[in-house]
Amino acid sequence: MALLITGFTKCGLCGEVIEAHHQFHSFAAFIPPGHRLHGFSDASVHQSCLLNCEDYQGLMHLYAGYQQIYERRPLPSPEEAKNFTHWYNNSEDIKSWQAELAQFWSQNS
Ligand SMILES: [Zn+2]
Repeated sequence: MALLITGFTKCGLCGEVIEAHHQFHSFAAFIPPGHRLHGFSDASVHQSCLLNCEDYQGLMHLYAGYQQIYERRPLPSPEEAKNFTHWYNNSEDIKSWQAELAQFWSQNS
């Protein structure tokens, strides 16, 4: 999730500082580099700016689709978690999940 420091972080759409009394939305780093909406990845925006953004519907569609895949991500067993990097780099479940995610982005670029 994007790091947001109220009174310091700027809205990714209007460029104004997001204050503590503002309504805002912070996105996870979910859109790959090169995608036309990558600027929203790991970014915070005012809620009002987001709602008025011409990409709002498309962005919400992407976010919902990504979250459905993300929630299906494989997780290691407690034993596998002891050597997480080895598990992650060698898991067929991870490779399959990454392929599903890559397919999602190829269909939604
Ligand atoms: Zn804004």
